[in-house]
Amino acid sequence: MKNINILDSNTIDKIAAGEVVERPSAVVKELVENSIDANADAVTIEIKDGGISFIRITDNGEGIDRSQVKKAFMRHATSKIKSVEDLISVTSLGFRGEALSSISAVGKVEFLTKTKTDFIGTRYVVEGGRECVFEDAGIPDGTTIIVRDLFFNVPARKKFLKSPSSEGNNITELIEHMILSHPNISFKYIYNGNVKLQSSGKNDIKSCIYNVYGRDIANGLIEVKSIRDDISIHGFIGKPELARATRNFEIYFVNNRFIKSTLIDRALEEAYKDYLMLHKYPTVFLYFEIPSHLIDVNVHPTKREIRFFEGEALKCYIVDVIKNALINKELIKEIVEEHHEKPSVKESEINKEPFETINHIIESSYNNYYSSEIEKEDESTDINDKNEQLTLFDDKFISEESIKKHRTIGQLFNTYWLIEFENKLFIVDQHAAHEKVNYERLIKKLRNNENCSQNIYPPIVVSLSNAEAQYVTKYNDNFLNVGFTIEHFGGLDYTISTVPMELLSQNPADYFHEMLDELMEGKNSKETETVNLKIATMACKASVKGNMHLSVFEADKLISELLTLENPYNCPHGRPTIISFSKYEIEKMFKRIVN
Ligand code: ADP
Ligand code: MG
Repeated sequence: MKNINILDSNTIDKIAAGEVVERPSAVVKELVENSIDANADAVTIEIKDGGISFIRITDNGEGIDRSQVKKAFMRHATSKIKSVEDLISVTSLGFRGEALSSISAVGKVEFLTKTKTDFIGTRYVVEGGRECVFEDAGIPDGTTIIVRDLFFNVPARKKFLKSPSSEGNNITELIEHMILSHPNISFKYIYNGNVKLQSSGKNDIKSCIYNVYGRDIANGLIEVKSIRDDISIHGFIGKPELARATRNFEIYFVNNRFIKSTLIDRALEEAYKDYLMLHKYPTVFLYFEIPSHLIDVNVHPTKREIRFFEGEALKCYIVDVIKNALINKELIKEIVEEHHEKPSVKESEINKEPFETINHIIESSYNNYYSSEIEKEDESTDINDKNEQLTLFDDKFISEESIKKHRTIGQLFNTYWLIEFENKLFIVDQHAAHEKVNYERLIKKLRNNENCSQNIYPPIVVSLSNAEAQYVTKYNDNFLNVGFTIEHFGGLDYTISTVPMELLSQNPADYFHEMLDELMEGKNSKETETVNLKIATMACKASVKGNMHLSVFEADKLISELLTLENPYNCPHGRPTIISFSKYEIEKMFKRIVN
């Protein structure tokens, strides 16, 4: 193992300062990071009562040499950096040398460790900063740390903790991110005596995603892989159907460290902009490899944030990679019969875990030893291959060649067009298709500064509410940009004398109020382009509400035009325009295929 040094004051001053252990999840984070830094490939995390009464981390890593164990618990003791210069190139997860000292100051810590070269291991007990025991321990290679009664000697801190279940949830989320950030490590997470999460350590990101987030998410992913200059991006991005109401599923790692970055969030959201409804956020699992000279990890005490030195370039790169992945993939939501459940871990598997029995022994007496190896758990939850295949869209439904081979069957419920192509039934929502096609045409003209409007004669008179009238006055220029000429006619009456060309077939009186309602509901923006786009979106949405009768010929034309768009899969609000059923699924529903 490497030597542990005490950092000099100059280096200490340069390290982002702040509290490392304010709650149980922070303790778990520091300790699991230590296991990872010690090159462990199997790590078990066990907690009870949200980590407040009990935390155990066991790894099969390098361990600490007997002669260095006490040193590791001193403040600013670390084997990971020696001087300020090392901060620039640091690749380990930890480097502040504070976790063990801070944790043992506020909890009852029992530390068991053995290196390969040590003949016998060491057991060290420190409670509230007081050394209690230092002795031999017959243990396997690696390290176990147990933290009991966190903040037992700092009641003010203890009061500050949330409920055990809420603290436990934070830990669970942390472990989920750990599993994803290190797919090469086999993790086992035991929560109040039950195995809650487990990963194989076989370096298969998709199976990690499956284990943590389940089948629906694992099946809705598109793989991305790209290298530009010295930076690489790989991983999986979710199809638009996996969109969420929060940013919690914008999950990414920089050099295997889970971080949050507004720069990356913004890049992701920009790339998905045309695919998602307002206030919806994408699901992604992305891994960035960035050379250490382009980032600074020393900006946040728990290293949750990092600084990018060439942020704008990185942002553009991310947008490019994701947009390309979304464009090149058919994003038609496929309906797959639901009947597979996420496999749950059996109670009996817990008993196989060697340290469970050890805990038991340690709980009852400090002087018992154990010897047993942590074994890599066998992957018990591989992805179901057949379902996997079903969600891959190999058929190129939208290519020019295939459009000729589409067979339009007819219209259903005055709204949906049924199309047969190869081994699939596609269903196109006529309203969503119309809205999308109109919107794209309108936006194209707006972007090219072309004239968007068409006169209507005689002008239509609409009576507005006070709020509507105010809105129309305030954004009159924007309405004009998009193609609506609206003029005051007396009182609360206004005339509409031109409308966007795309909406000519509709009577503006039928959709104008609804459009204004929707517009006023959203956030007000001052930016001209944002307001224009909003007006265009709402206008297209509101104008296609009525049941429009289309002939088969007109429907074919509409659908063909839809399929030429860069993103034909979602209406401007992110609703899908096309869904599909495979022949296989249909035959399965009719029990022609049984399995
Ligand atoms: P840091 O991780 O910032 O170096 P810590 O206080 O977390 O500081 O740990 C101090 C030192 O103890 C580490 O630098 C490492 O050498 C050693 N150490 C801690 N945990 C482990 C572990 N699980 N396995 C091996 N060595 C460890
Ligand atoms: Mg550490």
